[in-house]
Amino acid sequence: MHRTAAIISQGDEIVIGQTLDTNSRWIAARLLDAGVVPVEHVSLPDDRKAIASTFGRLSAAVDLIVCSGGLGPTADDLTRFALADAMGDTLVQDGESLRQIEAWFAARGRPMIDLNRVQAMRPSRGTVLSNLHGTAPGICAKLGSCDVYCLPGPPRELMPMFETFVLPRLEPDGRRTVRVRVLHTIGLGESEIAARFRSAPGGDLMDRERVPLVGTTASNSVVSCRIRYEGTLAPAEAEALIARDEATIRSLIGEAVFGEDDETLASVIVKTLKARGQTVATVESCTGGLIASQITDIAGASDVFRSGWVTYSNETKVREVGVPASLFKGSAGGTESGAPGAVSREVAAAMAAGGAGEADADFAIAVTGIAGPGGGSAEKPAGTVYVAVAGRACETDVRRFAFTGDRAAVREWSARAGLAMLWLTLSGRRGVRLLRQVDGAPVC
Ligand code: AMP
Ligand code: MG
Repeated sequence: MHRTAAIISQGDEIVIGQTLDTNSRWIAARLLDAGVVPVEHVSLPDDRKAIASTFGRLSAAVDLIVCSGGLGPTADDLTRFALADAMGDTLVQDGESLRQIEAWFAARGRPMIDLNRVQAMRPSRGTVLSNLHGTAPGICAKLGSCDVYCLPGPPRELMPMFETFVLPRLEPDGRRTVRVRVLHTIGLGESEIAARFRSAPGGDLMDRERVPLVGTTASNSVVSCRIRYEGTLAPAEAEALIARDEATIRSLIGEAVFGEDDETLASVIVKTLKARGQTVATVESCTGGLIASQITDIAGASDVFRSGWVTYSNETKVREVGVPASLFKGSAGGTESGAPGAVSREVAAAMAAGGAGEADADFAIAVTGIAGPGGGSAEKPAGTVYVAVAGRACETDVRRFAFTGDRAAVREWSARAGLAMLWLTLSGRRGVRLLRQVDGAPVC
């Protein structure tokens, strides 16, 4: 029975912050979906003793350990050795595994180097999990009553192996039910949401003793509200509790909800435009194509995405999407004084309207701003960004934002703001003010 799980991510690069540990996040979500509760994440350096002792400690505390990384052929890949240490076992060469590694190299016309032989080693009481996407096979073993799965670090190898070898072998506690529902919002800060939740009929929704548990997570302008049930109720009863809380949450902050669970602003935009047979274009300056990238990340975007411009210079804003040159200070044909300049509501609006027209799209999102750290002025400091959404059948909505943080943060916030504004237009909610918005009376 697998009630609880621990996740180990292995490698110096993780511990020193060179590589972001995305594996643990992905594995934890998968386990929870399957009804196994992750209770601890551990990141470890390439240190055989530390890995072995962590295997030992966790195996006494949880029913399942999933470990990623450290299965490569080099001297810093120590997971198999540490696992054998923790098991009090020795490593043996797995003939079938060696053949598979040899075949992997042969299929690519490359000679196998001797170093790779170690990847066919497994604890004598362990089994090998074959890897179709790389040379590092996984290992499955028992440490006392705890099941241990060691998978290679590269996510595109780990993910299919988890699905093939771990998911089907999970034995969640049939009497325990885990259900999670997430509602994603824009336009309200976490504290505003918490204040509204406090006034819920029946008491504070975010009380830590409450069942289900309600929590929030902020990521730029998106605040996600998570309703999580974990207990012995039958699935239908757990779902009823979640549905009850979802209804309460929607009654308190419904105007801000744009999506659920795995949905993102970009995915709901693509879904909505597709359903309506409408299209969008983007004209980006300081975001350098981020918005176009986020929209085209979504499968099916080709039905709705017409074109994206990165008009970084004044000249291309004029030439590509027809922004009037007179709006730029000191540019050819522009007025020296009194012109709004590249970072202005007028230019943002002209970029959006021009992009929609050039692309023959129903909507266009435009962004112009100062990502920083340099380039700001007293009147328009770094982080000043204008975002506009133009549409065939509506007035252009232009808003000024004052973002804080480094260049990457300003660009990320700006892209989110562009998507959020299009979503507000599509859902008829232009009256919603966004976080960090400093002006721009929305027009409906
Ligand atoms: P390894 O299996 O230790 O040789 O890991 C090989 C590569 O997998 C590393 O260089 C990383 O790029 C990637 N990787 C390892 N662990 C993780 C992790 N926890 N999250 C995301 N990527 C990882
Ligand atoms: Mg490694």
